[in-house]
Amino acid sequence: MPRPISASVSVSALAHNLAAVRRHLDQTAAAASGLPPSIWAVIKANAYGHGIEQAVAGFSKAQGLAMLDLDEAVRCREAGWGGPILLLEGFFNPSDLDIVDRYHLSTTVHNREQLDMLARARLSRRVDIMLKLNSGMNRLGFSPAAYAAAHERAMLLQQQGTVGSVGKMTHFACADGPQGVNEQLGVFNSVTHKLPGAISVCNSAATLRFAEIAVASEAQAHWVRPGICLYGASPFADAEAASFGLKPAMSLRSEIIAVQELKAGDSVGYGAIFRAERSMRIGIVACGYADGYPRHAATGTPVVVAGIRTQLVGRVSMDMLIVDLGPIPAAGVGTPVSLWGEDGPSVDEVAEAAGTIGYELLCALAPRVPVARDV
Ligand SMILES: *Cc1c(COP(=O)(O)O)cnc(C)c1O
Repeated sequence: MPRPISASVSVSALAHNLAAVRRHLDQTAAAASGLPPSIWAVIKANAYGHGIEQAVAGFSKAQGLAMLDLDEAVRCREAGWGGPILLLEGFFNPSDLDIVDRYHLSTTVHNREQLDMLARARLSRRVDIMLKLNSGMNRLGFSPAAYAAAHERAMLLQQQGTVGSVGKMTHFACADGPQGVNEQLGVFNSVTHKLPGAISVCNSAATLRFAEIAVASEAQAHWVRPGICLYGASPFADAEAASFGLKPAMSLRSEIIAVQELKAGDSVGYGAIFRAERSMRIGIVACGYADGYPRHAATGTPVVVAGIRTQLVGRVSMDMLIVDLGPIPAAGVGTPVSLWGEDGPSVDEVAEAAGTIGYELLCALAPRVPVARDV
């Protein structure tokens, strides 16, 4: 018997979340009398831990898929995805362009070196590009001062038959917080508004809160790039995924593998950081940080045992964590435990208790945890 820990990924929850985002965009577009944007479903980092093949199945109705790794792009093609694929960081060396060409990938172009590589490439067909502007986040993209010249070079490559369509893209630093997107959007608009091409600016937070900026009012096509919300987690610290009609797509479950009875004053686990104030029953759960559960989750982090919410106590160790069985007196060895997901706390609640975000927990699911695919 394997250890009793497993994750399940619901393809129908992925499809449900995509449909919820689609509906939100359509409603926003209808209210603004504009054209609804297309969706690039972001499936980087093994589809935020959910698996590329599951994502290809769950997001079959997306207009495109976006990711970073060439290997993941190839897996999408092998899984039967025939639609657009966008590489969010572009390519890294000239030989990557052979794969871009062979698998008909679209690519972000964010620096001069990538334009140089394109200029030297011999491709069998044109490659569609999204030219990225650094509108203030200062990670990737041409500076506002350099953008027009980069765009001109891209148009020249288009005339020469190397490049197909040239779109315009940027990424927001604060779409999930009070600062919002106005400053960066202002920079983006002022730099790009006279240039032709499709636009892509919205991650999940911007798609959920500022969908109106992705609604095309003119002839330019808009593409949104939601990631986290499609997996049923929230991009916001102050709003739950469920409030947007999203369903968790990954559930992490295990079982109680031992029970201990503590007397007042007894401690549990490494560092003895939790001490029982009175006698209590605790359950040892087969799930630890080597499974991807955050070690920084503190006493009080919600855990669901046999459908009843209780709390983690003491320090999370490599292979185990400890829960208070006070509210579940009938629990014993073999009782099911839900760490996050459909029948557990939300991954965002667990993340918050560990001082991080749901993204990190989903992406960090360890390879040793078997993943079952649900429909
Ligand atoms: C990861 C990523 C996204 C998706 O971000 P979420 O916050 O998960 O929606 C969108 N665009 C780019 C460029 C990204 O790297």
